[in-house]
Amino acid sequence: MWYIILIIYILLCIYYGIYFYVRMASIHISKEDYYDKYKRLQNLNMGFKYMFFPIPLATIHELYLKRLKEYRYNPRFSKLNGKQLTLLDSEKEIAHLNDGQLIEENIKSVDYDVWVTEDRSDILILRYYGESCRSYIECDECNYEANGRVRTEIIKIATYDSYGERINFYECKNCNAKTSISETIPMKVRESSSSSSSGSSYSSSSSSSSSSSSFGGGSSGGGGAGVSW
Ligand SMILES: [Zn+2]
Repeated sequence: MWYIILIIYILLCIYYGIYFYVRMASIHISKEDYYDKYKRLQNLNMGFKYMFFPIPLATIHELYLKRLKEYRYNPRFSKLNGKQLTLLDSEKEIAHLNDGQLIEENIKSVDYDVWVTEDRSDILILRYYGESCRSYIECDECNYEANGRVRTEIIKIATYDSYGERINFYECKNCNAKTSISETIPMKVRESSSSSSSGSSYSSSSSSSSSSSSFGGGSSGGGGAGVSW
């Protein structure tokens, strides 16, 4: 019995080790720009698997973090004129962000990096998830990631036989638009003695906006047009 468990564990270690290493290598050798590589690597989130399979994954996780840093902070060059771009610090980047972007930065839903050439002939603004990105969704009115939940109302309590329903009310920190989204509360589970009454995982049926983030391509402001690399 233990022997079989050990074999399965070793096979899983090998599988995850190869899987993540190959995926990371394919991203690393691709011709994409750093920003696209960063996003692809971020999507390859290994979660906490590296804690359960530390033999291959702890090292790979170190490499994962190192690569993310590289793709975000390595020197970039303008696609317009090939000149080197410099990353502005948080004080200097303010001048290049609009009011909505500054609010996103203040509430930490988005973290912007602003890269400029020395002569300001190209300005590249890149969006990254902020520390509090999970607390905000995109506003339907202004499209900034500034819609924060202000209160929740339970419409129907979940029972062992039926789903419940709650409505989350949001207010946009940027344009003050108010929206609400209804969510299904999962049914209670009978077996578990310590069942959570309202559950933490739920499927949401949205009345207005979806909560998907819109971290598309890096937008280039000011003089520049294309995404530089
Ligand atoms: Zn808004």
